[in-house]
Amino acid sequence: MSKVRTDTIAAVATPPGRSAISLIRVSGPAAFEVLKRIFKTGGKKTFPLPHCAYYGSIIEPESGLVADKVLVTTFVAPHSYTGENLVEISTHGNMVVVSKVLQIVFRNGVRSAEAGEFTRRAFLNGKMDLLEVEAVSQLLSAGSMSQARLALNQLDGLPSHFVSRIRSRLLDHLVQLEASLNFPEDAIEAIDEHLLARDLKKILAELQIFADNARNGSMVAGGLKVALLGRPNSGKSSLMNYMLGRERAIVTEVPGTTRDTLEESLMIGNYAIKLIDTAGLRQPGDRIEAIGIERTRRAVDEAFALIGVFDGADLPDADDSLVMTELERAGKPFLVVRNKADLEQKLPDTFFADKNQLVISALQGSGLDRLVAELRKVIEGSGLGEYDELVLLGAQQSAALEKALVALERACAGAGRMYQDMLAIDLEEVVRELGRVNGETVDVNTLDLIFERFCIGK
Ligand code: GDP
Repeated sequence: MSKVRTDTIAAVATPPGRSAISLIRVSGPAAFEVLKRIFKTGGKKTFPLPHCAYYGSIIEPESGLVADKVLVTTFVAPHSYTGENLVEISTHGNMVVVSKVLQIVFRNGVRSAEAGEFTRRAFLNGKMDLLEVEAVSQLLSAGSMSQARLALNQLDGLPSHFVSRIRSRLLDHLVQLEASLNFPEDAIEAIDEHLLARDLKKILAELQIFADNARNGSMVAGGLKVALLGRPNSGKSSLMNYMLGRERAIVTEVPGTTRDTLEESLMIGNYAIKLIDTAGLRQPGDRIEAIGIERTRRAVDEAFALIGVFDGADLPDADDSLVMTELERAGKPFLVVRNKADLEQKLPDTFFADKNQLVISALQGSGLDRLVAELRKVIEGSGLGEYDELVLLGAQQSAALEKALVALERACAGAGRMYQDMLAIDLEEVVRELGRVNGETVDVNTLDLIFERFCIGK
């Protein structure tokens, strides 16, 4: 899909299978004409009036066969999802009937929509920018209410306004710079480099906050990663299984057998969490174990929070020290858990004495409610619950934002000191990259990448 198309498209917007109703969308200049040919309204109301619902029949024009009794809703351009004339046909939710209706639609000059084509048209017709497109995509895939709320907030348009406002401020500076570079002899007011440098710094600070919010947004959207760290046999897999309420990791009595990292999703309150059972930290015995430990380190780096699991029924050893060091080194919120409370306790009280500890038995499930409550406090305390601030970006948008930041940092460092033409080159890059974030300047190939993640009918 590489060109803007102005033909009329249709697709089923609801999932296949049996249901009470299915929805077929028809969008494009011929939408109403096609419906006039194949739809017979049951009432007296003229068809099609804008923004009306009609009960009637879809009829095969050649044979007069009634394919289904349906409800047809009309949306007139530009007041529709796509910004084009759009008709929604609610059929009975049986795939035999849906296929027949769709076949009739296709035989009357309409082609099958490609994945994401309705939303792509909405974007090309200015109904939404790329930030809102991303929000729609995330709303469709949200696995928790917090993820959905994040997407819904973004659909309200705040991030869109922010990026477009910042971009136009930078564009103003760029125009002035270009004017003074290209027409120095004309009586154009000389650029006040001091003022320019100050404004660029202000914009940079705002953009950095926006980028932080985007990083946090993708953490919430992807599920907050919580890694379980502990020496082999401390009970990480058992704890994970208990928290998930089902057997997922293989629990064994041979130290060092959970060699890979396992990831499982669960909900804590409204938050989607990805619990990661790591290989266990210890001095590696062999190469496979060394790989496992390497992965553990990576899991720690990617995690939002950590849970250190220690065997309360054993004396601390060098591996426990390694875990303690890793917990402290990571610089992330962490909880300390003393496991195996059902056995005689040998881990001294002095161990991690300065840190609040949770005593649990992963085997019996005791102390786990408190652990979950503490984890919830950590999440809430992190500010990630402030959905209003968070921003959702797709991979291409994130990359563009990072490039914009780097170029703007360069411009800020050079403003007042650098030749104006160099400054203009940097600002041009910032403006171009920000245009890729909200879609004001975006190439067709990138659009293909963005919209192919959508399903057909959206
Ligand atoms: P991991 O290597 O850290 O993942 O540890 P596992 O979860 O595989 O547990 C190692 C061993 O300790 C297994 O035999 C578990 O049944 C046992 N275990 C785990 N938690 C507890 C507990 O709270 N109490 C007792 N008694 N045994 C436990």
